[in-house]
Amino acid sequence: MNPEFRVLVLEDNPGDLRLLREMVADAGEMRFRLSAVTRLMEALEVLDGEPYDLILADLNVPDSNGLDTFQSLHERAPDTPVILVTGNTDESTALAAVAHGAQDYLVKDGLDARALTRAMMYAVERNRVEQERRHLVAILEATTDVVWTISPDGQIRFLNQAGHATLGLRPGASIDQVNLMDHFAAWAARLVREEAIPSAIRDGVWLGETALLGPDSVEIPVSQIIIAHRSSSGRLLFLSTIARDIRERKKAEERLARLAHFDALTGLPNRDLFRDRLTQAMQRARRHDRLLALLFIDLDNFKDVNDTLGHSAGDQLLKEIGRRLEHCLRSQDSVARLGGDEFTVLIEDLASIEQLQVVLDKLLHELSVGVPLGGTEVFVTASIGATLYPIGDADTEALLKQADAAMYQAKSNGRNNYQFYSHELQIRIAQRLALANDLRRAVERGELMLEYQPQVDVVTGSVTCVEALVRWNHPRDGLISPAVFIPIAEQTGQIGAIGDWVLRAACRQCGQWRAAGLPKSRISVNVSARQFRLTNMVQVVRSALADARLEANALELEITEGLMMENLNAAEGVLRELKEMGVTLAVDDFGTGYSSLAYLKHLPLHCLKIDRSFVRDLPQDADSAAIARSILAMAHHLNLSVVAEGVETQEQYDFLVDEGCDAVQGFLFARPLSPSAVEELLRKGSVLR
Ligand code: C2E
Ligand code: MG
Ligand code: MG
Repeated sequence: MNPEFRVLVLEDNPGDLRLLREMVADAGEMRFRLSAVTRLMEALEVLDGEPYDLILADLNVPDSNGLDTFQSLHERAPDTPVILVTGNTDESTALAAVAHGAQDYLVKDGLDARALTRAMMYAVERNRVEQERRHLVAILEATTDVVWTISPDGQIRFLNQAGHATLGLRPGASIDQVNLMDHFAAWAARLVREEAIPSAIRDGVWLGETALLGPDSVEIPVSQIIIAHRSSSGRLLFLSTIARDIRERKKAEERLARLAHFDALTGLPNRDLFRDRLTQAMQRARRHDRLLALLFIDLDNFKDVNDTLGHSAGDQLLKEIGRRLEHCLRSQDSVARLGGDEFTVLIEDLASIEQLQVVLDKLLHELSVGVPLGGTEVFVTASIGATLYPIGDADTEALLKQADAAMYQAKSNGRNNYQFYSHELQIRIAQRLALANDLRRAVERGELMLEYQPQVDVVTGSVTCVEALVRWNHPRDGLISPAVFIPIAEQTGQIGAIGDWVLRAACRQCGQWRAAGLPKSRISVNVSARQFRLTNMVQVVRSALADARLEANALELEITEGLMMENLNAAEGVLRELKEMGVTLAVDDFGTGYSSLAYLKHLPLHCLKIDRSFVRDLPQDADSAAIARSILAMAHHLNLSVVAEGVETQEQYDFLVDEGCDAVQGFLFARPLSPSAVEELLRKGSVLR
């Protein structure tokens, strides 16, 4: 069933009204329900009461005339179309009313039913369409998205309020002169022109991200959709665009990307991002035949800072280190934090290895400068491994491993230094790894053994002390020197168990010799710095002595300068306890460490062992002679006895005796020996020839 339209008729002439009614009744399908009033005031009242779909009005009624009549009606019901029904003489007024918004006018003379109802239907329909259009426009104007349409020739036809605001136009300003392309970021304008519009025209729609230029030319990233609108015959009518500001989303995406690619603490790139950058840098290095250096940096004593000053101090330290690294490098170099206290650096376009060395020296220096933390100044150093590309044909992974391996080499070279990766290093590292694995079981499988090297008193010629030297009888590789496996044991922490075993075995051996009634000699045992830190030396020594039923004064411990320097305060306490127990203490390899004389006076020492390297070139080498002399003079001044290591020749021996050395140890008298060979020597008494 067709809808029924409500029509308000304002007509004071009863004849005319009747005529209208008759004509409308003839209309047929379309049904109009007419309500008639004769005065304007009545009409206005009725309009207040209920909505009408159409108004038919005579302009001249008893209480109003001419244009005023229309205007009053239109004001009261602006959304209701008005058709004026006028006499001949009113035609010019009716025309004016149409200009003011009336839908149409009809002249009473000659009016027929068909013309009337067609005009009424048309007015109602047109009004409906207009209302719909207004609703749609209202939506477009209310949305915060930017909406515009352009004609096929690129001329802008419509721009909503949000569009005006975003493009920096006054509300309602004319858009005739607006060139939309001027309002895109340059890259986005190119994208829209070359890709978006052509593909919207081709496919009907294009969707993508572009960027508009807001006021002050701020780039506003937008998600943009372009739709091509066509007539039913397929002719392109216009293009519409909706662009949504995605600044917030972009920011969130950036935050996520930062989280995924950057270290939260230092703000430096993380492992993933660094790997990408490394891969790209390697490509560039290959393509342009340029040298690239990869550095692996590990702080030497970060753990101490964390343990003693707490994690937040540790964090602050890491931040500062990150800053310093960046500061030392050029802006095109890249620094990353891999985690913990591990950093990496990429240096591209290196001119030479010398240039890299300059950078490395600078890095070591910068990092070693004190960092003010929690009221004190903290000193850290770093071990740096460096590898170069494209020397060799490593991939990303291999290059990282190389730098890592070189860094470990720097660590075992005493820290606070840098090492370059080399092939030999790689082999050494591989062997080292295998040995470290085997070493894990060496103690329990009984693969360790001790040899003993006598120290001979230069006055009596008797053996006063024997030094226990550990050997590893490897099932496949044969005898392995402690110089090889002790550093590995120190790195892996196995030195604790090994040192323990050595101490017990040596004490037991000495106890056996004594029990056998051999001339009394002491036993000296080497203790490494790491072992000292890892284990409770006092307890370990006490238990080893007790097990061997050995008096404490039969035991001498050989410690290195490094141990005392690294942790003087902690070491001092333990050394004192040991001394009080009766154990004697010797400084091994004297002269090779960071010699500070202060501790010699400070610590409860008994003996200095001049390092083999100073004995080797005696007596010809003037420097060695001077060093040996001054060590002897100083030691005696401090009441310390001196043992010279590595004495191989009579000349060396004579020189040392002349200068007042107390005892000697070396191949001249005996190599490290088996227990039975030592027994023989002890039994003989004097070994002096
Ligand atoms: P060290 O304590 O300075 O031991 C002396 C080293 O010099 C021994 O090497 C010994 O064989 C060697 N030597 C002795 N006389 C001569 C000589 O006349 N000429 C030459 N060229 N060398 C001589 P070894 O046994 O290879 O031990 C090397 C280092 O390994 C030791 O140096 C010591 O620092 C360490 N070490 C050995 N045993 C142990 C141990 O049980 N624990 C720890 N922590 N370190 C040990
Ligand atoms: Mg020694
Ligand atoms: Mg030594």
